[in-house]
Amino acid sequence: ARQFFVGGNFKMNGTVSSIKEIVQNLNNAQLDPNTEVVVAPPALYLQLVRESLRKEVGVAAQNVYDKPNGAFTGEISVSQLKDSNIHWAILGHSERRTILAETDDIVASKTKYATENGVSVIWCCGESLEQREAGKTLEVIAAQLAALKKQVGDWSKIVIAYEPIWAIGTGKVASTEQAQEVHASIRDWLKKEVNDKVADETRILYGGSVSEKNCKELSKQKDIDGFLVGGASLKPAFVDIINSKL
Ligand code: 13P
Repeated sequence: ARQFFVGGNFKMNGTVSSIKEIVQNLNNAQLDPNTEVVVAPPALYLQLVRESLRKEVGVAAQNVYDKPNGAFTGEISVSQLKDSNIHWAILGHSERRTILAETDDIVASKTKYATENGVSVIWCCGESLEQREAGKTLEVIAAQLAALKKQVGDWSKIVIAYEPIWAIGTGKVASTEQAQEVHASIRDWLKKEVNDKVADETRILYGGSVSEKNCKELSKQKDIDGFLVGGASLKPAFVDIINSKL
């Protein structure tokens, strides 16, 4: 069975003091021991979080580069993450794809480099409102997956996050049916294009306006294996989302 997974993407939010408070809250909470939890603070706070957060909770960068080191101003390397005990990265978030102009191929290349060098990846995909309304949702996601498959051979270090862009930060959560439909189609794609084992073992998370109110219903869907949480991961209610399955 796939272990339930909840990620917290802080995005470009927080201060030393607010992030210490989030860590404190997580350290003191009762967390479902059957759920894997990973939080992704801004790069500046990765070490602070890793050094103060309980060890069973993982820490992720929100981006990582696909070269070992060198003249790449502003970037962080996989080996620097590992040197700071960070073993996860979020890649291909729609905000990086749209605002920072990362293409499917750039995202795939970073995912390949990270996973081949010991950093696991929460790989994000999802359609815009315009694409959904044009009936292109499954096509868009299949194309994003195809770009990933061209470069990645080992899927064991990848968690997929389906985040419909229209649901991110809008309070407009996808319905359980909408989410389940896309999750099932992603799993189908993995079965056809990769293999049964990868389809069976890969966690597929839902992201987009997940809250303590809607998480339980979503978590009951057959192909929803967890969440990638934005805004609510900054609040004490994040604990309730982690404990969706209890
Ligand atoms: P919200 O939970 O704030 O909608 O953000 C979702 C997201 O983008 C997580 O990566």
